[in-house]
Amino acid sequence: MCGIAGYYGSGNTCEVLLNSLKRLEYRGYDSAGIAVSSDFEIHIKKAVGELDDIKSDLDLKDKKSKAGIGHTRWATHGEVSEENAHPHVSCCGRFALVHNGILENWEEMKRELGEHRFTSETDSEVVVHFIEQRSQDGCVETAIREFMKEAKGSYSIAVLDSKREEVFVMKNGSPMAIGIGSDGLFFASDIHAFSEHTENVVFLDDNEYATVRGSELVVKNHKGKIVDKQPKTIKWSKKSPNKKNFEHYMYKEINEIPSVLRKLEKTLDRSQKNDLNKFRDMLKEHEKIIFTASGTSYHASLLGVYFLQKAGIEAQALIASEFKNYERADDKTLLVPVSQSGETKDVIEAVNHSRKKGADIASITNVPHSTIERMSDVNLRINAGQEICVAATKTFINQLYTIMRLSSSIDGANYNADLANALKNTIQKNEDKIKELAEELSDEEDLYIIGKGEAYPIAREIALKLKEIAYIHAEGMMAGELKHGTLALIEDNTPVVSLIPDGNSSIASNVKEVESRGANTIKLSPHNKDFWFPERNESFVFASTILGFLLTYWIAKRNGLPIDKPRNLAKSVTVQ
Ligand code: GLU
Repeated sequence: MCGIAGYYGSGNTCEVLLNSLKRLEYRGYDSAGIAVSSDFEIHIKKAVGELDDIKSDLDLKDKKSKAGIGHTRWATHGEVSEENAHPHVSCCGRFALVHNGILENWEEMKRELGEHRFTSETDSEVVVHFIEQRSQDGCVETAIREFMKEAKGSYSIAVLDSKREEVFVMKNGSPMAIGIGSDGLFFASDIHAFSEHTENVVFLDDNEYATVRGSELVVKNHKGKIVDKQPKTIKWSKKSPNKKNFEHYMYKEINEIPSVLRKLEKTLDRSQKNDLNKFRDMLKEHEKIIFTASGTSYHASLLGVYFLQKAGIEAQALIASEFKNYERADDKTLLVPVSQSGETKDVIEAVNHSRKKGADIASITNVPHSTIERMSDVNLRINAGQEICVAATKTFINQLYTIMRLSSSIDGANYNADLANALKNTIQKNEDKIKELAEELSDEEDLYIIGKGEAYPIAREIALKLKEIAYIHAEGMMAGELKHGTLALIEDNTPVVSLIPDGNSSIASNVKEVESRGANTIKLSPHNKDFWFPERNESFVFASTILGFLLTYWIAKRNGLPIDKPRNLAKSVTVQ
């Protein structure tokens, strides 16, 4: 969460920063700001709101400047306000700073700093005053190293020093990528921010910082020792994300499912084949398999457990933020982190923790060269391309497919080799019916989705989508659990969506139970001719997920909600 960007070069600094922030906006959209250094002074603009609405308030294009930093915020400390928006500036005005992460000992550090003019309620502002105070002997690097020693928590930080026209970046626990281009050096929370400028990227590791003077990039560890970093070449879409003819990214991304799935199928059969085999062997060789993930990726992990158990492999899935409370990782464990961004803080913590206990790591991620990918013994990329809508759609489908391919490589279970086409038809042939259903359900405040076996994780995933995008309180649950409590909430016309794959007859009695209490049951099933389903039952989890995604989309659209940027949320959760 929070996107940070920085630039040192010959281009128009303000323009570069605003473009980068636009590409990072999915990480936070509470407020944004930029600071450039010109004539040895900091010039700063910040405002509350989404970038398109506040862009003109951030205009510093007329300032001739070689260096600048920018930020798009997802507030953790301090309300959403202009004062709390980053960049923050030091008392004497020499430094400006942007921060992604949470500084846990900020109050203690603030107390120790003594007299400084604080203008925000953020943890982040403490850092800029610290850098100013500790740089008083003239050496900013000393201040940075001292900060790295004393700080507790996670950060990726960019500091602009107007006196020497320099930029410093440092990292511990939150991501920081540095692009090396012909027109300058680019810093950002992720590579999307500068992919139009360069393919050559250096990733800072934890406890490293970098200094930029002119075109020279120097990376050092927290003790000041130079670290030799070779840039990696990253092939990643250069294009700025755009919605094409779609009104929302969510709808565009649902419609991209068939094509990104096809791409994934190809890479699993070709370029990722060795990694698929290695991953499969590791699943077979380890005694304990623990998936760990958050949100949507956790639901994919639950399905992973289902498939692996069927394939005769003991597996469990743990929510990453609760990992330490439940795990028993050891050197016989294979940890399987699943994360779209590959930067999810809670998942990274689980990886670090398991590694220390001797576990091996086999991950499933989307964004190439992410932190989690780099921490893993083997990684499969789901190749879904950039996903802009905060809600994961196409990436969930590709996570499921990857997991299904892994398990079928173990037990030889069938999978639909023509899944992409089947899903294309699922989208096209159900659209009208789903729109009608959305109309019918759009005023509901509570909704239940029930499933059994492989349909249970899908019920949870659809419920999550309805909450985050349509703001409907939805519960996704195991159908058999209804009678143990939740049935008390079912009354006349309570909507209950049941997911009924072919051959799953045991759910029929659960559906009857809610119908007997007057529920309005909606059956997503190949037997309900209202909806079109692919013939092959292995496609059910994918097709029913898509129906749930479309239903959510059309309800949210009918209700005029901010579909791509739902309130209080952001993509890529890089704080704990
Ligand atoms: N803690 C900082 C703030 O609240 C940065 C938050 C983040 O990275 O999401 O402003």
